[in-house]
Amino acid sequence: MRDDFPFFNRNKSIVYLDTAATSQTLYTVLEDTTDFYTYHKSNAHRSGHSMDTWVDQKYYLAKEKVAKYVGVAEPDKSIVFTSGATQGLHDAVKLIEKAMPGGTLYLGIDAHHSLSLPIMELAKNNPWWTISYINLNSQGMLDLDALEQTIKADTNKCKVIAVGAVSNVLGKENDLARIKDIAHANAANTIIDAAQLVGKRKVNLSGFDFVAWSWHKVYGPTGLGCLVIDPVWLSYKPVHPGGGSVVSVSYADIIWQENAGRFESGTQNLAGIVTIPRLIDWLESHSSDIEHHDKSMARLANANVPVNQFHQASESDTGLLSLLPVAGAVEDYVMLLDAKGVMVRGGKLCAQPLVDQITSNSALLRLSWGCYTTANEIESTFDKLGDIHAKFQRNVLRPAIAG
Ligand code: PMP
Repeated sequence: MRDDFPFFNRNKSIVYLDTAATSQTLYTVLEDTTDFYTYHKSNAHRSGHSMDTWVDQKYYLAKEKVAKYVGVAEPDKSIVFTSGATQGLHDAVKLIEKAMPGGTLYLGIDAHHSLSLPIMELAKNNPWWTISYINLNSQGMLDLDALEQTIKADTNKCKVIAVGAVSNVLGKENDLARIKDIAHANAANTIIDAAQLVGKRKVNLSGFDFVAWSWHKVYGPTGLGCLVIDPVWLSYKPVHPGGGSVVSVSYADIIWQENAGRFESGTQNLAGIVTIPRLIDWLESHSSDIEHHDKSMARLANANVPVNQFHQASESDTGLLSLLPVAGAVEDYVMLLDAKGVMVRGGKLCAQPLVDQITSNSALLRLSWGCYTTANEIESTFDKLGDIHAKFQRNVLRPAIAG
C-alpha cells in the first residue's frame, strides 16, 4: 500500500508518525485534484453547461459511494459534504439546539474539542441544557454500563449522546453498536465523531442522528468532510442558509431543498469532492488489508513501550499510541525526534480535559500510523525514544520546558 502514496517516494528520510493529525495522500487524490484544476474547474449545480454537469456527476457519484461505504441508504438525503469533522459536529449541535428546548447531553470524557466545545458552549449559554460526562472504564473505553444506568435514572425527556468513536488520545474503539442500542432504547439523539475511525475499519454508520469525519485523515483532501444525517433532520432549517440550499425564494417565502443540499450552502470544496469516488474504490478494495495492518501496528507499538521510561495512556486498539515520558518534557521529545526525521505530535491533543486528568496537567507524546507505516519505522522510533530518554535520565539534556 505504501507505494500508492507519492509522499514516501519523494521524502525517503522522513518517518511520518502523525497520521492521526493528518494522513499522507493517496495517488488517485493527487491525480484527480490536478485533473479537476487542469481540465474541469467549474461550479456545481448552477450553470447548466457541460463543465458544470461533469462536476455534478462526480458530486452525485461521490455521495453514492460514501453512502455505500458507510452502509446508509438515500445518499442524497443522508450525506452532507462539510469542510471537515469540526464543521459537521458544530452543525449537528446547532440542529439539536434548534430542535429541542433543553435536556441532558451525555458527552464522552474522551471527546475531541471539536465535539466538546460546541456542547459546552450550548450548556453555558442555555440553562435548560445540562452536560453529564461519560467516564472511562478500566480499559480506557467509555463506560457504557454506567451510561446505561445513569440515563435510565434521568427523568429529563430530551437526551443526546455525543461521543467519539475512537479517542484521538487513547486509540480505543468505543462500542458504537451498543451506543446505538442505548440511544434507541432511551429515545436519545446521537452525535458521533468518527474522525479517527473512518478509513481504519469498514463500519456501518446507519441508525445514528449525526456522524462526522474529515477526509484529510483518510488519505484524502484537506477542507472536506462528511456529515451523515438521519433524513428526519431534513425537516429543520439550514444552519448556514445561502446559495444552493433553496429550491425557490420570493420576498414572501423560502422553500428549502428537500435533500441534504439544504445543509450545503455556498461553493463547496469541489476539487476535493471529485477525488472521493476513486478514493473510496481504493479504500473498499484494501479494507481488510488496512484493518489487518492497523491492528498489527497497534500490537507492535504496545509491545515496544519501555514501561520504565514512558507511561502509556492506554493499550492501543487502533491508529495511535500516547506516551508520558518519565524523564524530560514532551515538547523536547517532539523536537529531538524531528531532528532525527521523525514526525510525531505532542501536547494536549485537542482533548485538554482528558489529557490534564490523565497526566496531572502535563502533555502527551503521540505516535500515530497509517496503512503505509512500516514495522521498522515503529521499532526504530522506539529506539530513538529510548536514546532520548537515556540522555534526560543522565542529565545530558535538560528539559527546556518543565513537564
Ligand atoms: N475529532 C477527532 C477525534 C480528531 O482527531 C480531529 C482532528 N484532530 C477532529 C475531530 C477534527 O477534525 P478536523 O480538524 O479535520 O475538523
